[in-house]
Amino acid sequence: FVQALQMPGTITDKAKEEVELSEKQKKKLSIKETQRSLPIYPFKGGLLEAIEQFQVLIIEGETGSGKTTQIPQYLYKAGFCKDGMKVGCTQPRRVAAMSVAARVAEEMGFKLGNEVGYSIRFEDCTSERTVIKYMTDGMLLREFLTEPDLKTYSVLIIDEAHERTLHTDVLFGLVKDIARFRPDLKLLISSATLDAEKFSQFFDDAPVFRIPGRRFPVDIYYTKAPEADYIDAAVVSVLQIHCTQPEGDVLVFLTGQEEIETASEMLMERTRKLGSKIKELIIAPIYANLPSDLQSKIFDPTPPGARKVVLATNIAETSLTIDGIKYVIDPGFCKQNSYNARTGMESLVVTPVSKASANQRAGRAGRVSAGKCFRLYTAWAYKNELEDNTVPEIQRTNLGNVVLLLKSLGINDLIHFDFMDPPPHETLVLALEQLYALGALNHKGELTKLGRRMAEFPVDPMLSKMILASERYKCSKEILTITAMLSVNNAVFYRPKDKVVHADTARQNFFLPGGDHITLMNVYNQWEETAHSTQWCFENFIQYRSMKRARDVRDQLEGLMERVEIEVTSNPLDTVSIRKAITAGFFYHTAKLDKGGNYRTVKHNQTVMVHPNSSMFEDRPKWIIYHELVFTTKEFMRQVIEIENGWLLEVAPHYYKAKELEDGSGRKMPKNTGKTRADVTRTY
Ligand code: ADP
Ligand code: MG
Repeated sequence: FVQALQMPGTITDKAKEEVELSEKQKKKLSIKETQRSLPIYPFKGGLLEAIEQFQVLIIEGETGSGKTTQIPQYLYKAGFCKDGMKVGCTQPRRVAAMSVAARVAEEMGFKLGNEVGYSIRFEDCTSERTVIKYMTDGMLLREFLTEPDLKTYSVLIIDEAHERTLHTDVLFGLVKDIARFRPDLKLLISSATLDAEKFSQFFDDAPVFRIPGRRFPVDIYYTKAPEADYIDAAVVSVLQIHCTQPEGDVLVFLTGQEEIETASEMLMERTRKLGSKIKELIIAPIYANLPSDLQSKIFDPTPPGARKVVLATNIAETSLTIDGIKYVIDPGFCKQNSYNARTGMESLVVTPVSKASANQRAGRAGRVSAGKCFRLYTAWAYKNELEDNTVPEIQRTNLGNVVLLLKSLGINDLIHFDFMDPPPHETLVLALEQLYALGALNHKGELTKLGRRMAEFPVDPMLSKMILASERYKCSKEILTITAMLSVNNAVFYRPKDKVVHADTARQNFFLPGGDHITLMNVYNQWEETAHSTQWCFENFIQYRSMKRARDVRDQLEGLMERVEIEVTSNPLDTVSIRKAITAGFFYHTAKLDKGGNYRTVKHNQTVMVHPNSSMFEDRPKWIIYHELVFTTKEFMRQVIEIENGWLLEVAPHYYKAKELEDGSGRKMPKNTGKTRADVTRTY
């Protein structure tokens, strides 16, 4: 009887298994089909032969032809991963590294993190077994520190080379060098259809392997007059396409998370108002800080009858290919680093894209069939206002980080380093000066012990100096928390449009005297006390995901403290010590309130404003230090703390002269700036 009862169950289980198996087989089959349909597929044999024959190969192919996902698999099957040797593939963007690794693991039937993995800053998803490793270009740079000849790699693919990020550009010089003394290493430089000749020249006339693309015609439309509000214009365009155009998905290029969230809310609101009058519109955002479980939404096939609109940063320009896009909306902007080598001021600026970028964006509409691209600017602007090419990042950014890294690799002569496009001389000099002021280099430009310790941390030199200074001020626990919170910086506080007042009140409740860094620490500490509660985050308008990420970052940084032999000590109430440690790293970013009530940077007398979200917006103390500048309508300082001018002489005596730091009150600067006055006792 019992047996009889169990029987049907067993049969059902078995039947289910069979169904599942065939589902799996189907999936496998469709993956195979997709792989075979990619433009790169017919060239597999020829490509492998060329790799066999040449040590360095430039690979050029239209975005979406299969370079990033397929080449490492071809190499794997061709035996490049024998004896635990790895194929490494760099990506300029973290989202791309994660997403592509996930895709390739799936295609190969492996669990992500086993044979196929990825490594991005503060997140290592690899194991002993990993033989295909996707990583950000910055992570490969750091690998030179632990493995200078990269001897566990059989092939290195520097992918998306055309993006010319700072790290990719530095890698060019380094990998070219190791290829010379490692003849067994294969080097592939892969890029979209741009700049192949230039790469070839740089790599001693390496041959170029071209993968002919399939591209369908794309009609380009311009606006008649410039758009005052491009987000609104983009939203209107999406709805127009949705209501009037045949099926096909839409891709909108915006500059960052904030814009994407705004556009997404606007679209949701307006489609809700239109109700059942229109077909379903699926909104899928993609940007660098989007949690990984939400990233894959952009790849979900659109159900029949519906339409998908992908709201993306320029990550979708070449790094990620989304099938099914037929319409592209291009407002013509992206967010870029901008650096003034004279003042050392660095900020993120929304900048018009280049013609090359605009054309890449338009190309996204013509991958599967003929498409349309709507440029939200005039034809005249395209012709006369856009630059031909984007300036490589190395020529418009602070070099402190890479200079410290190169020095740590023993590369002392940076003026003669083999750069594809050298950075401006004054930027290089300023980076050296800054590292000298931070104590990372001595007066001969050689790495100091402090500099060596700073290089252990995968963060900017100012942050690593701040971390190391926390040893002296006995507040490393707090400084680690602050560093971690700064790394998720602008995504801590949640501010939904319909609850702005509540959200702002909740945020203000976290304010503590001393400034924004202290406030961020306060948020983290309170969250810790709730044992990392999601509910608490929800009630206090805090983004849980950001907190979780901050905790991960914090754990990793804490792990590194052992390597620099710093004991983690805590002193949460002594915010003077905490702020002094911050000052020790960020003394460059000092601003002073002038008589007219404006803040000016101390060294260069530039006008800067406190960001309205800052806890210091109303306090307006005389001396402040900011974490970063963002340029919107003005130069805004984001994350600000109050300091005393005397601290600057204490932490950076070689950088500031007492005369520069007079506060105008007629008081002389104290001679002995060590422990004076209330510095030690004044705590909050
Ligand atoms: P390339 O590097 O030449 O631009 P890719 O290898 O990135 O091309 O893309 C090849 C194909 O793989 C594209 O059709 C793309 O849509 C698909 N693809 C890549 N990542 C994913 C993913 N995470 N999910 C589904 N499809 C993907
Ligand atoms: Mg690619």
